[in-house]
Amino acid sequence: SELAHLEVTQRRERRIQRRIKEAHFPALKTLDSFDFASQPGLDRDGVLELAQCAFIEEKSNVVLIGPIGTGKTHLAIGLGIACCQRERRVLFTTAAELTNALSEAKQAARLSRKLEGLARFDVVLLDELGYVPFDKLGADLLFGFITKVYEKRSLIITTNLSFGEWVTVFGDPKMTTALLDRITHHCEILETGNDSYRFKQ
Ligand code: ADP
Ligand code: MG
Repeated sequence: SELAHLEVTQRRERRIQRRIKEAHFPALKTLDSFDFASQPGLDRDGVLELAQCAFIEEKSNVVLIGPIGTGKTHLAIGLGIACCQRERRVLFTTAAELTNALSEAKQAARLSRKLEGLARFDVVLLDELGYVPFDKLGADLLFGFITKVYEKRSLIITTNLSFGEWVTVFGDPKMTTALLDRITHHCEILETGNDSYRFKQ
């Protein structure tokens, strides 16, 4: 009946809202509100294809690379919301925040529990990798997390650094190489342009 159909739709909508809430997005930004025309260098079709969320099934990753103000976080949130709309479990965090959380968990002897908790998300958005360099422990912990979810879950990473520069935040060249191998093994790389959107406005 129509009523039953409405109820199913409402229940689904509530589940989606729960997913969005649980993701802790810092702002609600959608791909619909992204002005692709102002970012001609960006692979628009690639973004829209990712919004179909097949990458989650493939356990592959997304890396958004570009200078500050070029829409990386907006796109990452937009993709995250697209994942929520498919009722996938999403978590938004920054690289610095995640590293701190892992370090606190380790101090409280709860690291493995924390990692288990994180591994329950289908997609973890790691914003602003490269803005703050890690100390040795931070780098080890983030490496441990990425190793744990490798080929099991998807990461959406935003960064202002080219891959060649990642060693400057992780320190150890060997670890950086191993990390990049894992992240880029199954990965879609999107480059946002050089022009700051805010600056242009
Ligand atoms: P980044 O993460 O690359 O530093 P943001 O995603 O935070 O950049 O973008 C900065 C601000 O400009 C945000 O408010 C974002 O919504 C907006 N913005 C950036 N690019 C676009 C765009 N192409 N269309 C619409 N809004 C944009
Ligand atoms: Mg950002």
